[in-house]
Amino acid sequence: MKHFRTFLGENGVLTEDLRFYNVDWLGKYNGHSKIVLRPKTTEQVSQIMKHCHKRKLAVVPQGGNTGLVGGSVPVFDEIVISTSLMNEITYVLNIFSNL
Ligand SMILES: Cc1cc2nc3c(=O)[nH]c(=O)nc-3n(C[C@H](O)[C@H](O)[C@H](O)COP(=O)(O)OP(=O)(O)OC[C@H]3O[C@@H](n4cnc5c(N)ncnc54)[C@H](O)[C@@H]3O)c2cc1C
Repeated sequence: MKHFRTFLGENGVLTEDLRFYNVDWLGKYNGHSKIVLRPKTTEQVSQIMKHCHKRKLAVVPQGGNTGLVGGSVPVFDEIVISTSLMNEITYVLNIFSNL
């Protein structure tokens, strides 16, 4: 936890009131994560993954948590990596011009 705070700051590491992150949108699946990380940049995501890989810590990525099949809910006590602070559109790949 201490390690993550060094580069994510206080706001980037949540350990309390995690119900939103542990239950899916339909309320069908319940997880038991005790920590939610909220990176702002891809570099921070990379730092998180490097550390978790080294320590064999399981993670689950979570966007808006509106998926309907429970994929974003930690089944056990995985670390939730929430992309909620990565809310800037920096690039749009315009392959399909008729979107
Ligand atoms: C009311 C309602 C209406 C909906 N209508 C539609 C619709 O019309 N069409 C449609 O297609 N879908 C619809 N959906 C489904 C839902 O919105 C989609 O599944 C949505 O794309 C989920 O995005 P999310 O960011 O909330 O992902 P989450 O629910 O957070 O995650 C979904 C999956 O993606 C993974 N994931 C999340 N973020 C990342 C990431 N950054 N990197 C890698 N993996 C990641 C998660 O681990 C999980 O497995 C609807 C859902 C609701 C609740």
